[in-house]
Amino acid sequence: MNIKTNLERINADIQSSVSKALDKNVTLVAVTKTVSSDEIQEAINLGVTDIGENRVQELLKKYDILGGQVKWHLIGHLQKNKVKYIVDKVDLIHSLDSYELALEIEKRAGKIEREINCLVEVNISGEESKYGLAPKEVKPLLEKLDKLSYVKIVGLMTMAPYVEDSEDVRKYFRGLKELSEEIKLMPFQKVHMDYLSMGMSNDYKVALEEGANIIRVGSAIFS
Ligand SMILES: *Cc1c(COP(=O)(O)O)cnc(C)c1O
Repeated sequence: MNIKTNLERINADIQSSVSKALDKNVTLVAVTKTVSSDEIQEAINLGVTDIGENRVQELLKKYDILGGQVKWHLIGHLQKNKVKYIVDKVDLIHSLDSYELALEIEKRAGKIEREINCLVEVNISGEESKYGLAPKEVKPLLEKLDKLSYVKIVGLMTMAPYVEDSEDVRKYFRGLKELSEEIKLMPFQKVHMDYLSMGMSNDYKVALEEGANIIRVGSAIFS
């Protein structure tokens, strides 16, 4: 494993995408499931600023060791009964996928008076195994979320299906971008569409071309 050369390659890919769109800023979220805290610390020393975990238990364990040096992203499915453990720690929840979950975040975040940034997870490919809302469910949910005080919607997230040829997922990334553009035209008070979290190790280049400004990369860094 050479975290340094891996990060250099990924950062070069990000730079080349940013240079084509000057107003664009891209956040690399280093996904650290199965990665030890020593390896994460090495990545942090090499400039990684954002860490993504898909399980609450793992996030808490690593947060204990690495804590406030970085921003923490919860990227996997979140159960309501786990919300209380992370509301004071996460900078962004990528996986908001129901109104019930939003209400629990609202309640727990209200207790500590901390606004929680969230992305709505969209199952844009319609695969049955995937979490997330069907595209047509997104706007009706946002109408309700717009009225909450501590849940702050800042964009959308999707996971593309795994495919051999990353070109095959371009249509899904484009679909998520189009959905966010439609939402931008709606008269929301609190809902913002600042972020598109899409693209992982095998498809982040295509995602960047289609407008991703948060990419979630694990194995391409830590292997
Ligand atoms: C594991 C995971 C990633 C990163 O996957 P890699 O293929 O290792 O880059 C991104 N997003 C989510 C939600 C994940 O669970």
